[in-house]
Amino acid sequence: LKAEIIAVGSELLRPGRRDTNGDWLTERLQRHGLEVTGRALVGDDVARLETAIRRAAAAADLVLLTGGLGPTEDDRTRDAVAAAVGAPLVRDPAMVEHIRGLFESRGLPFRSHQAKQAEKPEAARWIDNALGSAPGMLCTIDDALVVALPGVPAEMQPMFETVVVPWIRTRAPSALVRRSLKLAGRMESTVDRAIRDLYDTPELELTILAGGEGIEIQLLARGATDEEARRTAAAVEREIRDRFPEDLYGVDDETLAEVVGRELRRAGRTLSVAESCTAGLLGGAVTAVPGSSGWFRGGLLVYHDDLKRTLAGVPAETLASHGAVSEPVARALAEGVRERCGADMGLGITGIAGPGGGSAEKPVGTVHVALADGSLTEHWGVRLVGDRALIRRRAVVFALDRVRRRLRAERNGS
Ligand code: ATP
Repeated sequence: LKAEIIAVGSELLRPGRRDTNGDWLTERLQRHGLEVTGRALVGDDVARLETAIRRAAAAADLVLLTGGLGPTEDDRTRDAVAAAVGAPLVRDPAMVEHIRGLFESRGLPFRSHQAKQAEKPEAARWIDNALGSAPGMLCTIDDALVVALPGVPAEMQPMFETVVVPWIRTRAPSALVRRSLKLAGRMESTVDRAIRDLYDTPELELTILAGGEGIEIQLLARGATDEEARRTAAAVEREIRDRFPEDLYGVDDETLAEVVGRELRRAGRTLSVAESCTAGLLGGAVTAVPGSSGWFRGGLLVYHDDLKRTLAGVPAETLASHGAVSEPVARALAEGVRERCGADMGLGITGIAGPGGGSAEKPVGTVHVALADGSLTEHWGVRLVGDRALIRRRAVVFALDRVRRRLRAERNGS
């Protein structure tokens, strides 16, 4: 079954306004096994809206509209549905009385324009709105079920559950299971090559996304039942885990910082950080995780060289002979912060985020990370790409991933 979603409202076309109703509906529809084949944002314009409804009804089995059902002049969904059905809007006296009763029960004056909400094409059916005054409605156009729901999320969501879900259950007895697998330290093309043979798995959709924290492999498994869809997803997940035993760090909404926190807690260890180029981003990421005081001691934000020296204890000669962005300084930062913050592990990070400050020897994106635990200090030098913001973010991800890999290796006894 295919579904299309149309979010109505000129305000949604302004920058910064997000169609969160569309996101919510997409998630729900997919969960119930429907394929969302199109989403549109349409302003408060009857003709454009009518065109969008007709197009969606021709393309899909289910069309969901959200918003534009209120009583004001710019609420045009009703008119557009009527135009798409090809029938006039008719006022339903019973609905007028129902809405009048709602207003009176709340001690609010019922004004004549509110009666607009009681209009629908003759053949359409009302959908009760238990929480607001604007009822929804449903009708069929070109064999597609067209459902108009209010824009207020708290009103729309229960109406979707009580009307649309039962309709879906009778039409689409299939289930869908979604799973996200997250990988750090791999390129999109490498991952793509490594799992290409799985693309042909029946009843499975695989998508690779490159995000801020690495690569995400999204699995979408279909089945006649929940159990069957889950089995397909689990089998493919096991296969992918086998192919990336070290790089796969989490699933679904898990963040790298959460995973690192969990590993630290499991190992009963604490972490501290000394940051130069990321200047607080790393500490921020670690402490975004609830409960981080259990494994994070704190850290030093040592942007200037004199603070690397005085606060983190980096020897002046090391800074003078190697420069701030260098392996020896990263090592000294890691060891210094570990000791000064009284943590089990110290993470040091220094680099050139750009856009200025690069040289032939140390181009923009050069980042040195070191991890000290009292007996061993490891170092990694990398060249990260991107603009300043991206390089800083990637440096944080890279550093966190080193901690994760170290703890994982220790847990596996290597
Ligand atoms: P009501 O009669 O309750 O106003 P309505 O159907 O007329 O319902 P709108 O006026 O279009 O709905 O929107 C009401 C509010 O609902 C908006 O101010 C906005 O906060 C929220 N809203 C509308 N559409 C969306 C959307 N697509 N995503 C998220 N929120 C939305």
